[in-house]
Amino acid sequence: MPEKYWPETVILWGAGATKSLGLHATNELMRLVLKISKKDFSFLNGKDEKLSNAFKKLIVEDLIKDTKISKIYDLKALEAIISTNDKLNMHELFTMLDQLIDNNMGFNAFLHGKTQFLRAERVQAAKRCLILIIEELERFSIQNTPGYTDREKMEPYYQFAKILTELMIEEAQEFENRGYRRDTRRFYLYSYAIISFNWDPIILWNLFNAHKEKNQNPVKLKDGLKLQLYDDFGTQISSAQLDGNESGIWYVTDEPQCKGINDYNYPSRIIRIGKILFPHGMFGSRICPECGKSIISFAKKWNRLSTEIFGPSILKPLQKNWRYTTQKEKIYKRGAIECPYCGQITYPYDMTLIIQSLSKKRSVPTLEELKTEMGLLMKNAKHIVFAGYSLPLDDIMVKTFFMSSISGNDKNKLKCTVINYDEEYRESGWLSGNNILEYVKKSKNNSAAECIENICDIFPLENIRVNLSGIPDVFMEDGKCSKKKVMDLLYPEEYFKEGFPIYRD
Ligand SMILES: [Zn+2]
Repeated sequence: MPEKYWPETVILWGAGATKSLGLHATNELMRLVLKISKKDFSFLNGKDEKLSNAFKKLIVEDLIKDTKISKIYDLKALEAIISTNDKLNMHELFTMLDQLIDNNMGFNAFLHGKTQFLRAERVQAAKRCLILIIEELERFSIQNTPGYTDREKMEPYYQFAKILTELMIEEAQEFENRGYRRDTRRFYLYSYAIISFNWDPIILWNLFNAHKEKNQNPVKLKDGLKLQLYDDFGTQISSAQLDGNESGIWYVTDEPQCKGINDYNYPSRIIRIGKILFPHGMFGSRICPECGKSIISFAKKWNRLSTEIFGPSILKPLQKNWRYTTQKEKIYKRGAIECPYCGQITYPYDMTLIIQSLSKKRSVPTLEELKTEMGLLMKNAKHIVFAGYSLPLDDIMVKTFFMSSISGNDKNKLKCTVINYDEEYRESGWLSGNNILEYVKKSKNNSAAECIENICDIFPLENIRVNLSGIPDVFMEDGKCSKKKVMDLLYPEEYFKEGFPIYRD
């Protein structure tokens, strides 16, 4: 018999969810890349001076004048490519670069009255440069003072993570009362999952910290065993040990571990896990070019406001607190992370950032595995929350993937919540039925309306509810994250009749 229990609520976490922190959506990133290529640095105004100067230095000095760096990350080639058409969007640019690279083809750019031919190697280096700039831009944007994010802006996300943590503890206690077996998914799997289409690890880092606080001071279940909460990435990812002094490989917790630890014959502690997937890759993660393992850098210390979770920058002042730890890392620097498996040095261009792109050849096993897992989560969900994720259905890959993964789900039962942002409808509360249609009709050509229209194409209208106050406001009340609102967001009573904790028959 196939596994019966899956997370009931699946949250699709998109760029809109972290906009309030200063992170950019892809269209905004593209606009900034275009500006950078024209040496327009007006977007640096108002930011910390040290950071701004460092960012400028990266672009005008290191990426242009440093003979070694400029060859690896070819900014001039990237500029030549995008200057031929400044209407390119990020999807098209990635797809075009991938197609050229896959076919080992160069690029002809007509510039300043003559053609300039870029050989295939330079196209490859242009793509590396694009990925690097995206990463550096996002790392730069999130920093308030060098090395740290803004405490006030981050607070709602931290509180949200703490409430999710509390809910998963309550769920454990109730599931125990109901007699769900601890070594089965029915007990150990969280009733929510997160699929992040963002490259930033903000939600993950907040959850890690919230879980850690509870794990250090754990609730005890009835027989006195300590309850601890972890996250499952949907694929095996490892890092060098955080905390400890000994070198060694540290693994993210997964289901086999849950089964083993929760084994009734060997009682030691009880763990639960939740799925959190990054199908488009994540800053600070790398695929080792030698052994092919998937690794992640994490931070060197547990500071929830530290930007270290974004991984090392190639320029020290852009990630001030990063410490290279191994001997090799100290020699190579420039964003180096040593693979804990084979000792090979990985660089920022070993990061597998993708945006859904039509190029089929570019398959990375880890990402393929995540895609499968993501499909299963969607297929088995009872409630899907579009949290600032705009569902770009003009991208045919996204559309076909969505349609095929929920095609096996009974659409009359599958419920859907859309959180988006529209200044004018910020205080309108929940929209449903005709109010949604009316909104879409009135607000033509606005991205929120487009997103909602796309979702109405897939889900029956009566199963959709929409809120336009955005994240984090949708779960805030009097300046604080409200537990009641989080519960209503994830487990609304109109969808889950028995309320929270969810019933698992
Ligand atoms: Zn390796």
